[in-house]
Amino acid sequence: MAKPFASSADLAEKSQSLEVPADGVYALTAEGDPNVGAIEGEDFLVCFEALATPVAAREWLIRLREHTDKPIRYLVLSHYHAVRVLGASAFGADVIVAHEKTRELIAERGRQDWASEYARMPRLFKEPASIPGLTWPTATFSDRFTIDLGGDRGDLVLAYCGRGHTEGDLVAWLPRRRIMFAGDLVESQAALYTGDAFHREWSSATLDRVASFGAETLVGGRGAVAYGKAEVAAAIAQTRDFLAVMLREVGAASTLKEAFDRTHRALEPRYGGWPIFEHCLPFNVSRLWDELHGVERPRVWTAERDRAVWDQLQS
Ligand SMILES: [Zn+2]
Repeated sequence: MAKPFASSADLAEKSQSLEVPADGVYALTAEGDPNVGAIEGEDFLVCFEALATPVAAREWLIRLREHTDKPIRYLVLSHYHAVRVLGASAFGADVIVAHEKTRELIAERGRQDWASEYARMPRLFKEPASIPGLTWPTATFSDRFTIDLGGDRGDLVLAYCGRGHTEGDLVAWLPRRRIMFAGDLVESQAALYTGDAFHREWSSATLDRVASFGAETLVGGRGAVAYGKAEVAAAIAQTRDFLAVMLREVGAASTLKEAFDRTHRALEPRYGGWPIFEHCLPFNVSRLWDELHGVERPRVWTAERDRAVWDQLQS
């Protein structure tokens, strides 16, 4: 039987849980749907990720408002993907921060990515008509961006760790609490999406840099919050292993279809039951095949190309 396209048949609402890993630090997880977070400054808030639509974002803000009524000064976007950024208008933030490559990617392929992600994951796009347009960062950086949280709260450091899940991912690091928001560079008990990735760099230098912060709590892009050094190490190791298996299997294949079948077979026993595994794999293998055959930057995903790759590999 043909598998339904991407996550188009995944229509059951996920249950969300709001966790408070430290005083003034919030993480909303949702059984493998994209995670979001917030960090309190002395007299303002920093929000991390914007969800797919303003209506979806407003539901998160209602929960956050049960804990704090501080105004939102910063909205931080970990990367350009539509389900992370298109809810931005709901936050009314003074400043929208992203890596400089993220801004370039929104300009280059933001429209196509919006159409692609909407077709792949329609459930995440609550009231899609509420999206006013593309989200444009108003502050960008290349290496580091530091936000003084005020009082004795210390800094929130936004850092670039190299190319990974996309060309412009950032992590948000709270040194005083040793808490990291890693965006999609690390997943904890959720499958990886690598359709816009740089697998070789991500699996080596980029994850080395992420690990070098020495986080003791880590909020990944999807999945559970990792508490304690062992869980953080396990989340990073899981991410690295997923990439390493892909590199090994795709590298050993002589056709794209063989690459998909080998990779599926190798990953399925460990990761097959995790959120979005079947959804992501055709796009992941297609991108890695390109990467290993000299295509430097990921090709743009369009709704049409998504379908063609799905039909070739998943049916
Ligand atoms: Zn992403």
